[in-house]
Amino acid sequence: MRAKLIAGNWKMNGSLAANQDLLLAIGKALGTHHCKVAVCVPSLYLAQVQNLCAASPIVWGAQDLSCHESGAYTGEISATMLRDFGVRYVLVGHSERRHYHGETNELVANKTHRALSAGITPIVCVGETLAQREAGLTADVVKRQLAAVIHANGHCISEIVVAYEPVWAIGTGKTASPAQAQEVHAMLRQQLSAASTQSDRISILYGGSMNAANAASLLWQPDIDGGLVGGASLKATDFLSIVAAASQ
Ligand code: PEP
Repeated sequence: MRAKLIAGNWKMNGSLAANQDLLLAIGKALGTHHCKVAVCVPSLYLAQVQNLCAASPIVWGAQDLSCHESGAYTGEISATMLRDFGVRYVLVGHSERRHYHGETNELVANKTHRALSAGITPIVCVGETLAQREAGLTADVVKRQLAAVIHANGHCISEIVVAYEPVWAIGTGKTASPAQAQEVHAMLRQQLSAASTQSDRISILYGGSMNAANAASLLWQPDIDGGLVGGASLKATDFLSIVAAASQ
């Protein structure tokens, strides 16, 4: 049985003061029976978050990493640098990086490799746009995105986490219905089990406008192992409600 994981994606939000308030509020309210909880924060704040969360059950992650090990790559942050700050998870291939930074499936696969080599769990994001869904291409698109990652990381694929995030549901307030999400999750699980005998260790999270009101019905689906939460992870009460729904 996979323990549920709720991971917040703060995106480019936060400040020293706001981060402290948010993490203290979440940390204080987490009961003893809760699911796994993570926050993926802007890298600049990793030292602060490491300090604030060191004695709490909240683990922390980053939102991106370089596909290179080290060297002349101005502005980039390597997996080993992230590890220096106790990072447990890193988002890879978030749709905003694919869209605004032109990240390809191959680059996402290489970044996944870097994270795994440094002992950091990559949360590999896949998902279709609205146009792709309407054209009946959802299965093709997400399978191709995941296949590139499997191809480059086959031997340790059971160490990844996958996040299915339909692009049309991210930050839009439109959530995939539980049935729509379950259908894609089941397909991804099938693809992972064809690739690894240990695929039952791999958590598949849903992301896309998950909130306090819709979390429970999504998290009840048999192949949804948790959530990747953007907007609702910035408000302690909303994030805690999602954590509570995942901890039933
Ligand atoms: C995300 O950024 O990964 C995300 C799911 O955002 P939101 O919850 O705001 O849709």
